[in-house]
Amino acid sequence: MTTDNRPLPPRTPDYAVEIRHRAENRIEEEIHEHESRRNVNAGYIIAGTAFLAIGTYLLLADPGGLGTRTESDIVIAPAQPQPSQPVSPRRAETPKAATDRQQSFAPELVDDITRTAQASGIQRATIDRALASAGAPSEDVLRFAQEQPELTKSTGDYLAQRVTNERVEAGRRKLTEHAPLLTQLERRYGIDRHVLVAIWGIESNYGAGSGDRPVLRSLLSLVSSDQRRRTYWRDELMSALALIDKGDITERAAGSWAGALGPMQLMPSSVQRYATDFDGDGRRDVIASVPDALATAANQLKASGWTEGRIWGREVKLPPSFDFALASQQTPRSVTAWQQLGVRPATGLIPLDDDPNWYLVLPAGASGPAFLVSSNFTALMKYNRALPYAIAVGHLADRLAGGSALVTPWPTDDVALSMTEAGELQHLLSGLGFDPGPLDGIIGQNTREAVRNYQKARALVPDGHPTIALLRQIRTERRN
Ligand code: CA
Repeated sequence: MTTDNRPLPPRTPDYAVEIRHRAENRIEEEIHEHESRRNVNAGYIIAGTAFLAIGTYLLLADPGGLGTRTESDIVIAPAQPQPSQPVSPRRAETPKAATDRQQSFAPELVDDITRTAQASGIQRATIDRALASAGAPSEDVLRFAQEQPELTKSTGDYLAQRVTNERVEAGRRKLTEHAPLLTQLERRYGIDRHVLVAIWGIESNYGAGSGDRPVLRSLLSLVSSDQRRRTYWRDELMSALALIDKGDITERAAGSWAGALGPMQLMPSSVQRYATDFDGDGRRDVIASVPDALATAANQLKASGWTEGRIWGREVKLPPSFDFALASQQTPRSVTAWQQLGVRPATGLIPLDDDPNWYLVLPAGASGPAFLVSSNFTALMKYNRALPYAIAVGHLADRLAGGSALVTPWPTDDVALSMTEAGELQHLLSGLGFDPGPLDGIIGQNTREAVRNYQKARALVPDGHPTIALLRQIRTERRN
């Protein structure tokens, strides 16, 4: 799917009609393009229909064509996300009737959530109070859901943005400021202080970017608008309601667009399972209490299989004519076995560790930096399953501990697929018999293995790295 870059028409009474036509035309183009191939891609028709349904909903909610909806609600892949969305000046023009209709979520959705929450044991009074406080659907959370930087940026771009000298320096100040707490956390959970502070830095820039969006409103908006991950958002919403019921958070709790809470950006389900009252004030407060937030993250990492004393990984150099098919989580080896294959540390020493589960990761493919990673990297990927995220946390942790910048440069032509392109790649791979796992538009381990198997079958370098060039090749192959 391509972004519609045409300028918006002037705001006339025909505005809504024009927008609807444009949405319909684009869907028709999409459907036509996919039908013209031998195998009609059912998933895309469904996505297109959902897209049309969203457009129709917006028009129903906005019959006068002067509503508060912006183009970004309709265009699937617009420009950069804004950290804080200014209130649209159009809001002032909104007719009262249209505004009233947007003051609350769909009654069927509220009823459904109420029933499910009540069945899970949450008090009815809590549910009613919390849902009433959620207000109106948020207009931009779906856009954020589709532009998650850790999912739609290349690892190189993500690191350039998140592992800056400023963030290294700020992290070192946090290490000093919170040294006694970090010592206690290391003793209690066995998580290296540099890793904990790195998560803090990557997630929220040490609390500066924890988010100020009402969490219930965000999650309800995502449940109603993000069809692909509806179940996920619904579970998180249930967890948020349970936390409110227990008094861990209030219904006014604020967080990221995704409902992530506090300096460690913990999702409500993680708070539910791992929250810890580490400062001993009687409340599990992962938003305002740094000790509680860091302890909760440490508790979660420990539960995810973190092994004390083991590093997350290290940048390595691969020998000439290396078999890139080995750079897979499916083919782990001991550090010694990797050394025997010619793998060498890019700087410093190779880690001394006899665990057999070290594997190679190539976040930018065969031409970018290579990392030999441990089971602790897998634990980081459970905290947030995006590869750029886990590499950023690991590298920032190393920098905080005095390590140097990466040796191998990131390839400048490595452009991440958008979630729509990733979804198309998954559909195409699946159609060719290479199973990419769930068709969710998110490049994960399964998609990388499907790419690798495709590359092997076509005698390409099997680095498992999805690129635009690869997507184009598969598109061409499917047409012929
Ligand atoms: Ca506390």
